[in-house]
Amino acid sequence: MKNELEIKNNKKKFPSLDKFKRKGKKLVDDMQQAVLISINLRNLKYFNEIYGTKEGDTLIQNMVDYFCYDNENCIIGTKSYVDHILILCEGYNYSKEELISYYDDFAKSFIDKTNKEYPRAKISLDLGMCIVSKDEDFIVAQDNARYARRSIGNSYDTAVAFYSEELRKKSLEKASIIPNFQKAIDDDAIIVLLQPKYSVEENCIVGAEALSRFRDEEGNIVSPALFIPVLEEASIIYQLDYEVLRQVVDMQKRWMEDGRKLFPISVNLSRVDLLEETFIDKIDALVEESGIPKNVIEFEFTETVLVENLTTVISKLNSLKDKGYRIAIDDFGSGYNSLYVLGQIPANVIKFDRGFVLHSITNEVGLTIMKNLVETFKEIEFEVLCEGVETKEEEKNIVDCGCDVIQGYLYDKPLDLKDFEEKYVAC
Ligand code: C2E
Ligand code: MG
Ligand code: MG
Repeated sequence: MKNELEIKNNKKKFPSLDKFKRKGKKLVDDMQQAVLISINLRNLKYFNEIYGTKEGDTLIQNMVDYFCYDNENCIIGTKSYVDHILILCEGYNYSKEELISYYDDFAKSFIDKTNKEYPRAKISLDLGMCIVSKDEDFIVAQDNARYARRSIGNSYDTAVAFYSEELRKKSLEKASIIPNFQKAIDDDAIIVLLQPKYSVEENCIVGAEALSRFRDEEGNIVSPALFIPVLEEASIIYQLDYEVLRQVVDMQKRWMEDGRKLFPISVNLSRVDLLEETFIDKIDALVEESGIPKNVIEFEFTETVLVENLTTVISKLNSLKDKGYRIAIDDFGSGYNSLYVLGQIPANVIKFDRGFVLHSITNEVGLTIMKNLVETFKEIEFEVLCEGVETKEEEKNIVDCGCDVIQGYLYDKPLDLKDFEEKYVAC
């Protein structure tokens, strides 16, 4: 049993959130280097389901005891939410790296102990840290620590992150993506660029890839590297992919009506699209209605489509192929999939990733592997394309490996529709 003095002292060191903020601000003045740490316990809900809420409460109390009372550097702490705590710690003159390493070890030893005690529910912690300067508003500091913690994302292991201005810039950028994207969809302002695919042997273009963009509130183009993961995570990527396909189908329809020769245009689809029940029916209805031949539409899927739910994914890809669409496996060599899995994919085309190609063509062993891979894929009737080709020398090595179709800045960058039509679509 704790005696009265201990209870009083404990309350002082672990007050309500409001008191914590008020007292914390004053305490910072007397500290050498004030470090605020936001700590989140992952999986509490699951833990409660397995062990019951009473044990869950004990777990939280253990966490408070460990980080607040057993941690000699902790000056004051509070609970900011049911499974979050905030602690203000003396950081002396340690560097950010030293603080990260110290608290990483400190948190992991709590997790190891807890997971031994409760082996049926694996829990972990995210820790976000920031330095609190003497004149800083405590609410801003709290926000910074939270930003750092949230930057950790979906890691299943215990992890620590430190706040920086760059991190804030990135998370602000990320937060603005969804509203900017929704606005672009509502205003019909999704931009589709086309990059030609070129046959070295035939010396002409044999297809193109549609790549999307939209603008932020200042009118700057947002890169797919930024927006694709955000739209995938929010499960709204299907809106973008449907819109890109709609524009591509419109183009092909117009070219067909003008009597121009059609060639396949590929549209990137995300694995999330395939898991959306009605997506395939919707895109098929769109193409069907336009009257264009289905084999001028190619769907590109990155290798990561094959990571989970393989049976469902293969059956959806088969359904697209059976309807007459072309299928391409994108970014081959950038992930890690076994050739055995690739053999089951009903694809027409395999696109070698720039990184893989560059690495392969710099040494004899790489070249031999690539040459044999190209041969193997051709034998199982895949067309092989190399992406991201920038120089004549790269092209020569690629052609020597037996790959004929090339996409890259050497021929052209992704172009807007007007420029693409002027250069490549014969009347
Ligand atoms: P990806 O499908 O592999 O597209 C090729 C990327 O390589 C494009 O980047 C293209 O601009 C770039 N690239 C082309 N030639 C060269 C070159 O010679 N050198 C180098 N270094 N890069 C080259 P982008 O447009 O930024 O797109 C990045 C990725 O974003 C795409 O990779 C694709 O996975 C995804 N993406 C783009 N648009 C869409 C879309 O509408 N829907 C979906 N689901 N994904 C998209
Ligand atoms: Mg692609
Ligand atoms: Mg690619």
